[in-house]
Amino acid sequence: MTYAENILETIGNTPLVKMNKLTAEIDALVLAKYETFNPGNSVKDRMALKMLEEAEAKGLIQPGGTIIEGTSGNTGMGLALAAIVKGYKMVCVMSDKQSKEKTDILKAVGSKVVVCPTDVAPDDPQSYYSVAKRMAEETPNSWYVNQYDNLANTKAHYESTGPEIWKQTDGKITHFIVGVGTGGTISGVGKYLKEQNPKIKVWGVDTYGSVFKKYHETGEFDENEIYPYVTEGIGEDIIPKNVDFSVIDGFTKVTDKDAAIYTRKLAREEGFFLGNSAGAAAKGLLQLKEHFEKDDVVVVLFHDHGSRYVGKMFNDEWMKKQGFL
Ligand code: PMP
Repeated sequence: MTYAENILETIGNTPLVKMNKLTAEIDALVLAKYETFNPGNSVKDRMALKMLEEAEAKGLIQPGGTIIEGTSGNTGMGLALAAIVKGYKMVCVMSDKQSKEKTDILKAVGSKVVVCPTDVAPDDPQSYYSVAKRMAEETPNSWYVNQYDNLANTKAHYESTGPEIWKQTDGKITHFIVGVGTGGTISGVGKYLKEQNPKIKVWGVDTYGSVFKKYHETGEFDENEIYPYVTEGIGEDIIPKNVDFSVIDGFTKVTDKDAAIYTRKLAREEGFFLGNSAGAAAKGLLQLKEHFEKDDVVVVLFHDHGSRYVGKMFNDEWMKKQGFL
């Protein structure tokens, strides 16, 4: 018999799927690392489990304790599944811009959800960063995960996502492209791939309203780059410790409108029913097309599932209201 001992053992080993129609104008082979096949439907299951295992090993949380995290939804889902299997309580602190589906899904798997305003500075006491930190200080036997600065996040991708991509492409990968939020995915995968072959180019996809691209190009943290945006999962108003700029060759920025439109195109032209950051990554990939040559093997990583966005990017009324349709 072949079976997993529990749901956490099914994390990872996701497929690579060739893109065909949407990338027709690109000569290179374009492959999607399809992370929604993880049990929590996102890449974040990998780092959620790794961060919890490290915390347990360091004695930061005891049996029956409470995991507290500020999350745009996917890390919370990964942590919630791990909490169920391992016997912890889960509290997710989210900003009010995240889709309703994400809060509903977290509640469905038994997580407590606290919603905070998006439109405040990170150090404002009402921000989801501050509220998560404060709740952890006030809750006995609790552990504040802090995916932004917890380096087990990057390590998970260095140990699993990166080696999988290298093996699945027989070491032929030439470019890696991915959306950047905490930076764990790009930094872990990028570091592993560049250690195997330093010629591999690693590109981040950023959003308008986020600091990454300018910071990478100038070393300047420019507050003028920060303003509210619609795209979910990528971009930041802080520089998380998990972003390792030394393994990133460049960033491209994608507009909210293009990210939303390409989320829909992925579903309708490739049959890839994926999240909003996948749309941003797909458009980012097309913006970078002059960097690719005929025999290149380009891997783009898609983070999560389309079901989390049916009330937003997949909803015509919502799209019209945003002025995107
Ligand atoms: N896309 C989605 C949907 C996400 O939830 C996240 C995590 N915030 C990202 C992209 C960015 O991944 P990372 O945090 O590893 O940079």
